[in-house]
Amino acid sequence: MSIPMSGPDLTAAEVAAVNAVLQGAPLSIGPQLEAFEQALARYVGIPYGVGVNAGTSGLHMCVIAAGVAAGDYVITTPFSFIASANCILYERAVPVFVDVDPLTGNIDPHLVAQAVADLQAGGAAAQRWLPPALRAEGVTGRVRALLPVHAFGQPADMAPLLQVAQAHDLVVIEDACEALGAEYRGQQAGTFGAAAVFAFYPNKQITTGEGGMIVTAREDWWHLFHSLRNQGRDIFDAWLNHTRLGYNYRLDELSAALGCVQMERLAELLAKRAQVAAWYNERLANVAGVERPTIVSTTTRMSWFVYVVRIQPPAQRDVVMGRLAALGIPSRPYFTPIHLQPFYRERFGYQWGDFPVTEALGATSLALPFSSVMSAAQVERVVAALREAV
Ligand SMILES: *Cc1c(COP(=O)(O)O)cnc(C)c1O
Repeated sequence: MSIPMSGPDLTAAEVAAVNAVLQGAPLSIGPQLEAFEQALARYVGIPYGVGVNAGTSGLHMCVIAAGVAAGDYVITTPFSFIASANCILYERAVPVFVDVDPLTGNIDPHLVAQAVADLQAGGAAAQRWLPPALRAEGVTGRVRALLPVHAFGQPADMAPLLQVAQAHDLVVIEDACEALGAEYRGQQAGTFGAAAVFAFYPNKQITTGEGGMIVTAREDWWHLFHSLRNQGRDIFDAWLNHTRLGYNYRLDELSAALGCVQMERLAELLAKRAQVAAWYNERLANVAGVERPTIVSTTTRMSWFVYVVRIQPPAQRDVVMGRLAALGIPSRPYFTPIHLQPFYRERFGYQWGDFPVTEALGATSLALPFSSVMSAAQVERVVAALREAV
């Protein structure tokens, strides 16, 4: 019996909910979407939720709402899934990467403070923060926003980030796509920025197939997001009137119905994921060469998205991954740094060595099979294989 890398947790209730939509309810723009938005916003404790067809679409709309324009700088992390940087490029702005904290893999707030101060001062000190290919031009844009990512379901260090943002009038967009249910100093991830985005791809804490949701306390942004996701129509527009450039980022009713049931089961899903992580933690405690995830004290609640270990020398991550595969156990190098992705190297001139902490994490991190439907016996098999591989 093979162990999958990840997988959704679905019951008869999800099947019934999707079937009910198929029995004649509207398939798009209907009551399920609104119910899903309200359920998630209520859970997070924020006034508005806006369902979208993917987390990436949600991030794109947040970048637009933040007023990020061509040539602007947005400070973000290179240790993430590529969507958190691509959404900046969609508006022809420049992602300015800042290296991460070695314990959590989240953006380092001290470096963020330094980068913002240097970029606003301009000159030689500023240039080193710019992508290599843009350094010769010097500082040509303004820093407009911060886009921290709560990597692996552990919140970024928001307090000092918010201080920097406030001092320099920057908009904060939280990429909370991996962190539904996480808490930082007792406060829910998704409530710190001007807006935050959750995602529901099948490996996330809850799934809608494809899907995402923006949450915000700003009523003006709530209206703007409705318009942007619906081809630029404003509330007062007729179906074929389009006030602004918009997109089709709508979430359909089948997906929203699935999301409603998953939200009802969220406490159960998060508890099961925490249990699987606890099994891994126990069984990996004495495996030499394998470092378990570090949960820092500001993380008052971890929302387990993935279970990522670090392979310590002399063992090599890629060798271990190959041996695991030979033993029938899938695993992933998670994350491959964004700045080293072919497109980013080519466009911005990045090289190995530009973000040493991110690169060290990228070279040693290994995501093990993880989902809420994993059994203790499956965790046992993965750990036995890992012990052998290392
Ligand atoms: C999953 C994820 C997203 C969004 O992904 P979609 O596939 O567009 O829903 C964005 N950022 C991070 C860090 C993610 O893990």
